[in-house]
Amino acid sequence: MHDIPSLSVSDLAERYDALLLDAYGVLVSLDGALPGAAALIDRLNRQGKPYWLVSNTAARLPEHAAARYRGFGLDIPAERILTSGMLLGPCFMTSGLTGRRILVLGPEDSLRYVERAGGAPVPPGEDFDALVLADQAGFPCVETLDQVISSLIEQLDAGGTVPLILPNPDLVYPKGRGYGITAGALAVMLEAILARRYPDRDDVAFVRLGKPHPALFEAAARAAGGGRLVMIGDQLETDILGANAFGIDSALVLGGVAGRRPRIVAGGPTPSYLLASLAD
Ligand SMILES: [Mg+2]
Repeated sequence: MHDIPSLSVSDLAERYDALLLDAYGVLVSLDGALPGAAALIDRLNRQGKPYWLVSNTAARLPEHAAARYRGFGLDIPAERILTSGMLLGPCFMTSGLTGRRILVLGPEDSLRYVERAGGAPVPPGEDFDALVLADQAGFPCVETLDQVISSLIEQLDAGGTVPLILPNPDLVYPKGRGYGITAGALAVMLEAILARRYPDRDDVAFVRLGKPHPALFEAAARAAGGGRLVMIGDQLETDILGANAFGIDSALVLGGVAGRRPRIVAGGPTPSYLLASLAD
């Protein structure tokens, strides 16, 4: 870890044409803006410096996220927010799910994401053609998952195929002084159950959309329209691994999910820089 240089966020803004910023653990926590975030966003807005939030979420539409961030003192326009929920449209298109019945697990905005993507959201308990496990909130977890796994087993036992889609592959997020489990962790659990029951099938795993997979980075690169990009994030397994795979530089913010003493190992996800905080 010693040979990874530390840098201030102002230096990063000078070195790169556009900043890609993770939201949770970098700009915000559940309770509000993190130290330095408001000053950074102010500065970027004033300087007209291009930046995009790239966030693994399908729980809040960009316009609602923007309103929430404004309440935290962060003036981030909705069009600067790219979420993994926005990847559902292209995903439905390539999987032939446009217009199909989609069981959506998540809060109200998750249903809106699925509608915008061209799917027809149905509530738990009704027949469905595909499952979008959008978020861990917005439904009674164990009861709903009982119903979902029962329905999946019934359809798969009958020889059917049910596309499983996971917009947010994160396993945990920073919650209070500890961590909360996410839809990604619930997906791993469902996959374990299905893998044991159907060891010979290769269609019982979730399609994962967000970071570290390339689609969100591709969307950001398209929005930026070229130039040198740097990803600023707090998770090695999503932000940094994704940036490494996409071939752009990255900075790991200490103190988020990766902690203040991140375990960076040879051959694993490796940031180009370490950032002690957003406050210079
Ligand atoms: Mg994060």
